[in-house]
Amino acid sequence: MAKRAVTMDKLVALCKARGIIFPGSEIYGGMGNTWDYGPVGVEIKNNIKRAWWKRFVQESDNSFGVDAAILMNSRVWEASGHTASFSDPKMDCKECKSRHRADNLIEAHAKGKVNPDTMTNEEMEAYIQEHHVCCPVCGKCNWTPIRTFNLMFETSRGVTDESQNKIYLRPETAQGEFVNFLNVQRTMRAKVPFGIAQVGKAFRNEITPGNFIFRTIEFEQMEHQWFCKEGTDQEFYAQFKEKAWQFLLDLGFNAEHLRFKDHDKLAHYAKAACDIQYEFPMGWNELNGIHNRTDYDLSRHQEYSGKTLTYIDPVTNERYIPYVIEYSIGADRLMLAVLSEAYDEETLENGEVRNVMRFHPAIAAFKAAVLPLQKNLAPQAKALWERLRKRFPVTYDEAGSIGKRYRRQDEIGTPFCLTVDFDTLENGTVTVRGRDSMEQIRLDEAGVIAYIQERIAFN
Ligand code: ATP
Repeated sequence: MAKRAVTMDKLVALCKARGIIFPGSEIYGGMGNTWDYGPVGVEIKNNIKRAWWKRFVQESDNSFGVDAAILMNSRVWEASGHTASFSDPKMDCKECKSRHRADNLIEAHAKGKVNPDTMTNEEMEAYIQEHHVCCPVCGKCNWTPIRTFNLMFETSRGVTDESQNKIYLRPETAQGEFVNFLNVQRTMRAKVPFGIAQVGKAFRNEITPGNFIFRTIEFEQMEHQWFCKEGTDQEFYAQFKEKAWQFLLDLGFNAEHLRFKDHDKLAHYAKAACDIQYEFPMGWNELNGIHNRTDYDLSRHQEYSGKTLTYIDPVTNERYIPYVIEYSIGADRLMLAVLSEAYDEETLENGEVRNVMRFHPAIAAFKAAVLPLQKNLAPQAKALWERLRKRFPVTYDEAGSIGKRYRRQDEIGTPFCLTVDFDTLENGTVTVRGRDSMEQIRLDEAGVIAYIQERIAFN
């Protein structure tokens, strides 16, 4: 396989320089594991979320969207098990005071030879000691014992101390779908099997280094819960694996950069679980998860809320609590994968190297850029820009040589550049230059609209 040009440093630098992603709170020295999306990045991320929503809600037979509150009744997190056990095994380096996850240290050291997910805390401590696993920051081997650390951010509601009540920023969006199971089922007259999907923020007090937007403390998840009858669950599990994989291929991922990874250790309630891993610039890592969660979630919510969450089959009158197939992917993590996959450096005939982001056109921030060949063509170019941007997102650039302007658009992945020149004044045609091939054709305005519209759809 050809060596890929992308590295994390190059990606971070390009994202900053081109208004895609900036460090969070940068003028105050930043804040660990937070990032802000810039004017170009917010468009790309919105397009990713839109493509996901289109595929998993709008084009799905029996799936419904919700947008649930981030702050939920604290009992939700007791029922889900997060209050008791949503924690990471953390170790501090006594020398340099940096903080690490024991499982991550072992994973990096063992390079796949052992799986820390199957180890107890004592076993992880013993492994780290025996194998002399040292601190990746200072290189010393002087660790504190493992302590578990709940990842949920706490806050409180109420204005006076007496009425203070501990609540949490949700660490996953999934519970918003589970607690609305009956609401959605009844209002949409949904018959099992059906799905509930949501895109929204989640928060985790992650302690390990983030690898850019791979792991952040505030992130967006795109989750889909599929409610089905026991017995049909494994078939749907297989279908969701296939659908999740196909979605990535349709976004333009090379299948050689993707792989399935079954979980070695299943949660006690889970029947099957796997991740799709992507070969990120820092190595293979989880991009999304697909889990057969059995009837655990709805059963727990039934128990903790006291509300009956059984489904009654309208044909057979059978009552049961549905099984759930969960498909969950981080929008930011997918954004990092999309950026990594799109990044390319191409050596041109004249020896120059151009940076180009080869996004699927549906994902690109702008579908086209209007460029007047010379400044005195700006009025005609701006008029075209104004007309075109009513159809799809278009940017405009008149600064610098045409070659430099093409390069700027390549770097943010704009699929088409439309150059207004003197022939435009004569016959109304513009030059359409393709980002990937750099080939140019001439089309009139109606032709440009049809040409671009045909190529920007995500199907
Ligand atoms: P990890 O093992 O990487 O911590 P996880 O197995 O805890 O992830 P899930 O709880 O299954 O992840 O969350 C589903 C998806 O949400 C992940 O596959 C990932 O895409 C995304 N995700 C989880 N945690 C983060 C985070 N801290 N920052 C960005 N995305 C995240």
